[in-house]
Order: sequence, then structure tokens, then C-alpha cells
Amino acid sequence: SRVLVTGANGYIAMWVVRTLLEQGYTVRGLVRSLEKGKRLREYFSSYDDKLELAIVEDIMKDGAFDESVKGVDAIEHMASPVTFSAVEPDEYISPAIKGTLGILKSALKFGTNVKRIVITSSVAAIYGTPPKPEHVFDETSWGDESVKIVEEIGKDAPGVVKYRASKTLAEKAAWEFFNQHKSEVQWDLVTLHPPFVIGAPLHEIKSPKDLNVSLQIFYSNLTDASKTEQQLKATYNYVDVRDISKAHVQVLQNDKAAGQRIIIANGASTWQEARNLTSTLRPDLYASGVLPRGKSDLNKTLEYIYSPEKGKKLLGLEYVSQENMIKDTLAVFEARG
Ligand code: NDP
Repeated sequence: SRVLVTGANGYIAMWVVRTLLEQGYTVRGLVRSLEKGKRLREYFSSYDDKLELAIVEDIMKDGAFDESVKGVDAIEHMASPVTFSAVEPDEYISPAIKGTLGILKSALKFGTNVKRIVITSSVAAIYGTPPKPEHVFDETSWGDESVKIVEEIGKDAPGVVKYRASKTLAEKAAWEFFNQHKSEVQWDLVTLHPPFVIGAPLHEIKSPKDLNVSLQIFYSNLTDASKTEQQLKATYNYVDVRDISKAHVQVLQNDKAAGQRIIIANGASTWQEARNLTSTLRPDLYASGVLPRGKSDLNKTLEYIYSPEKGKKLLGLEYVSQENMIKDTLAVFEARG
């Protein structure tokens, strides 16, 4: 069957495309320009007949996806601004909401073969200030607090809060649209909620600035000697990019996923603990002073945890260990200097 992947040149999307192709699917990948599709063409050259690329320059335009949804059996919607430095709502909120609604609207009109639409939401659409340390968030939680902050202080809201608001609003719009139209469509909706996605990138990396945001943050937390104790004590929840990609494909085949929000997480740690683990995996990098050690005995109490239970139970996937996730990511960083 044929699957439409939006934002196909992105970090996670390239892995989703690869997993789909490996499992025998035909893929229609959407990118913003020919140039953005170049790497996909090269990387997947052995799948030339199974990978079709199409260009949608502006996902905010009415009917942007009308042609793209024709003849596909499923959709993986991943195109959305992932940035913590956006200022104007048009840089982050509008593309997130209009892109998501645009896909659903086009699927309503022209997606006569579509059976399932998977939207890559995020734990960003779940997060709120944790009421106590080690608070466990699950799929019943929504990012309303971030939306409220952005409504109140707009441009001055911190970048991460803006991003969370964009993901929350886009996902809410999706469920609302689906609930309004569910009697008219033959497809259902699934939202996936990964935390920090880490793992070897397939897209071209010439320097750290080519890393997507989650890898940039991972990279800076391991390599930046000026990180404060406060920063190193901070919690991060993680999943390997190979696992989030498998989850995107698995949910296409899983009846029980219909209508579900699903967190796809593996575990939680602190950045200092990531350094501690890395130093046991790669003592050479620390002995030679390439990586800063931080303060190995910092308090490792977690601020919050995204419950991986539902996702693990529903999809039954075996997740890549944190050790292998870190090792494989470092191997790519080293190979690219
Ligand atoms: P990338 O930045 O690597 O990919 C983002 C993709 O979205 C790119 O293809 C990009 O296209 C496209 N895109 C961004 N803004 C626009 C826009 N205004 N119009 C059209 N296309 C746009 O990010 P990731 O792979 O990390 O993220 C993919 C998805 O997963 C996103 O929806 C993100 O919110 C979600 N996610 C990511 C997590 C992570 O840790 N990485 C965690 C949770 C969720 P272009 O290259 O042309 O800019």
C-alpha cells in the first residue's frame, strides 16, 4: 500500500520513510523544494520505483495537499516547525495548525483510499508544570498551560513554550476536525507523542547546525563545558529514532491504535546522567578531554516522566537501549567530525 509522508526530508521522517520502504510500502514523500528532496533521492536510490517525491511549497495554502492525498492508503503527517527561536505566530503556530488541518481537509475531500492518518504530535502537547518531582504524565494530559502563556505574553514567551503551544493547538485542531467529520470519512486518526528523539540521523550533517533541534540539544548537553549544574540536573525523556519510526509504521497495522493518543517513550534521565553513562561507554572521549565530565554526583531526581506504558503495551515493540542509542548517535557525530 501507499503512504504519504509530509516533511519527508526531516530527521524523524527520513527514518519513517526508510522503515516504510523496508517493510514493502510505497512512499509518497512531500518536501518544500526539489533541493530538499535531493538527499532523499540519493539515500534511497535503491528504492527508486517505490519512492515518489512531490513538492508542496507552502503547507499553509488552502488545498495545499489536495493532489498529495489522492491514491494513498495512509498518511504520516510530520511537517511542522521544530524551533525554539520563532518570534511571530506565523513562524510556528500557523504552519503547525494550518498544515495539520490542511491534511485532514484534503483527506476529507480527496482521500478516498485513506484508512488512517497518523499525526506526529509530541509530549510537548502533554506537558504542564509538574505538580511534584517525578510526576508521571500520561495521555490524559494536555499542553493547555503553554497555550495560556503564549496567549497572555505572546512574543515574549520562551521558545520552548511557544513550540509546546504550537503542538498542542495543532493536535487539538486535528481531534476537533476529526470529531466533526468522523461520520463522513472512512479513515481514523492516531497521534503519536515522542519525547526527545535521539539516534543516528540519515539526513546530511556537515556541521552541528545541520542537526535537528533534539539532536542539537543532546549534542550541546554532552559537549558544552559551560553548562550549569541547574542545566545538567534537568530531566529529559528519550526514545531512539529507530523506535519512533517503527511505531509510525506499526500503528498503520494496528486496529487498537484507532482514535488513540500514544506516548512513544523509552525512559527518562538527566543530562548529567547522560554524561555519566557516556563516560562509561566511551572513557576515551573523557580521558582525552574531548567531552566535559560535568559533576558526576549531581542530584538525579527526575522532574517528570512521560509514561511509556500505553505505547509499549499497545505496540509491543522492543526498544533500543539508552546505551545503544547514545553509542550510535556519538558514532555519527564522530564520523562527521
Ligand atoms: P526536522 O526539523 O528534522 O523536520 C521537520 C520537517 O518539517 C522538515 O521536513 C521541515 O521542512 C518541515 N517543516 C517545518 N516547518 C515547515 C513549514 N512551515 N512548512 C512546511 N514544512 C515545514 O524535525 P524532526 O524530524 O525532529 O520532527 C518531525 C516531527 O516530529 C515534527 O512534527 C516534530 O514536532 C515532531 N517531534 C519531534 C521530536 C524530536 O525530538 N525530534 C519530539 C516530538 C515530536 P524543511 O526542511 O523544508 O524546513
